[in-house]
Amino acid sequence: MRNKAGMSAPVLQLTPLGRWHKKQFLADGLVRRRAELASRSVASSSFQAPKGTRDIFAPQSTRQRTLIDLFADTVERANYGQISTPIFEEIGVFLRLGESTDVVTKEMYDFEDKDGRHMALRPELTASVVRAFVQHRPTLPWKVWYEGPQFRYEKPQAGRYRQFTQVGIEALGTSDPELDVEVISLAADFYQRLGLRDVTLLLNSLGDPTCRPAYLEALETYFRDRIGDLSEQSAVTLETNPLRVLDSKRPQDQPIIDDAPLMADYLSPELTEHFGRVRSGLDQLEVSYELSPRLVRGLDYYTLTTFEFAANALTSSQNAVGGGGRYDGLAASLGGPDTPGIGFALGVDRILLACDAEGTFPEPTTAPDVFVIDVSGANVALSLTAELRTAGFTADRAWDNRSMKAQMKASDRSGAPYGLIIGEDEVAANSVTVRDLRGDTGQQLVARDDLISTLLGLLDPK
Ligand code: AMP
Repeated sequence: MRNKAGMSAPVLQLTPLGRWHKKQFLADGLVRRRAELASRSVASSSFQAPKGTRDIFAPQSTRQRTLIDLFADTVERANYGQISTPIFEEIGVFLRLGESTDVVTKEMYDFEDKDGRHMALRPELTASVVRAFVQHRPTLPWKVWYEGPQFRYEKPQAGRYRQFTQVGIEALGTSDPELDVEVISLAADFYQRLGLRDVTLLLNSLGDPTCRPAYLEALETYFRDRIGDLSEQSAVTLETNPLRVLDSKRPQDQPIIDDAPLMADYLSPELTEHFGRVRSGLDQLEVSYELSPRLVRGLDYYTLTTFEFAANALTSSQNAVGGGGRYDGLAASLGGPDTPGIGFALGVDRILLACDAEGTFPEPTTAPDVFVIDVSGANVALSLTAELRTAGFTADRAWDNRSMKAQMKASDRSGAPYGLIIGEDEVAANSVTVRDLRGDTGQQLVARDDLISTLLGLLDPK
C-alpha cells in the first residue's frame, strides 16, 4: 500500500478482534453512505424515471391491463396456461440466444449479485420459458402464455424503450405444422379483437441445421464478393453471421440484399413441405400473409417458420408489433432433451401506439360508479362505501370533512355518474340522496335499505 507521497505504508497485522472491528467499521461506513444517499433523495425533487423507461398509471395502466386480459382470454381459449418466470436469470440462459445478436452482445442489463453470480435482467421470455421447461420437464405438448416487462439497453425513441412489456405464447413438444398455424393465427386473432385492421403478417422459413449451412455458405460467398459495397457495420456482421446482414436497414446495403440468395432455394424437400403446410393452414383459416424471403429476425435460435407482424399505421422503423417462430434446437442447447418449440412475443407498448394511430381500443373509463358526499358529521361514508363495494359497485368518497361545495367539486372531478349525498336530514330519515351528476334526471331521496336495488336499476355494477 502506498501513501500520497508514494511511500509504502506499513501493513497492519490485525488480530481476529481487529478484523471484526474493521468489518464493522466498513459496514457502518456503508450504512452511513446509504443513509446519506437516502436523505439526499428526500431532499431532491429532480429524480426522473430512468432513461428509456416510463411510469404507467391510470387510465393507461387500466388500458394495458385490459389488453393483457384480452390476450389471456384469446390464448386460454386455445388451452395455453399462464407462466410467470423470474425477471432475472443466470446470464448463461440468454447467451444461448446467439453471439451475433445485439440483444445479447450490446443490450443486456447484466450484473453480479452479492454472491458473485453473473445474472441478467431478461431481454425476452422465450429463453426463460425454455429454461423452465428443461428444469421442470412438464408433459408434452406444453403450451404456455406470459406477460411482463423485458429489459434492453437500446437507444430510446418513440416505441423503443429500455423497459417494455410483452405478451406471448410458447408451445413445446411437436413439430406439427398445424401448431405453427395455431400459434400464428392466435396472434392474428388478438390483433383483430383489439380492432387493429392494418397489420401485415410477414412469413418466412429459415431452414434448419440440415440445410442452413449450405445456404449460409452461399450467402457468405455472395456478400464477400461485394464486401466493398457493403456498409462498414454489415461487413463486421458478416464476420459473425452472414444471415444477420439481411437484417440491415441501411440504405447502402439494400440493393445488395435485394439480390442475395434465398433460403427458399436451399430448403430440404421435407422443410419445403412443412412450410407449404403452414401456408395452406393459414389459407384455410383465412389468415392473410406476405412471404418475406429475407425476414431473419433478431435472435439466432430461430429455425423453420419465422414471422413478424408490422402495423402499417406506425413509422416503418418501429412498426414491428410482434414476431416469433420455431426454435427447435433451443431446449437442447439449454441442456434439455431435443424438443421442438414455437412461439411469439408481441410488444404491448407498440401495439397500444398502433391502436392510437388507428383510433381503436380506447382508454377505458376509470371513473367510479358512485361518489359519496358525507356532510352529516356521522362517518356514514366509511360504512356506506364498504357496503357499496361489497355489492359490486366501484365507490369513492371525499376526505377531510370538507364543505358540501368542496365535496361536490371532488365528486365532479371523479367522473362518477351518481353522487350519494348524506347530510343531517338523510341520517335522520335513514336515507340517501342519489343525485345524477350528469344532470339528466335530477335527484331522489332513497331509503337506505333500498339503496342497492335502486343503484342496480341505474347502473351495471362492474
Ligand atoms: P423481439 O423479441 O425483438 O422479437 O420483439 C418482439 C416485439 O417486442 C417487437 O415486435 C416489438 O413490438 C416489441 N419490442 C422489442 N423491443 C422493444 C423495445 N425496445 N421497446 C418496445 N417494444 C419492443
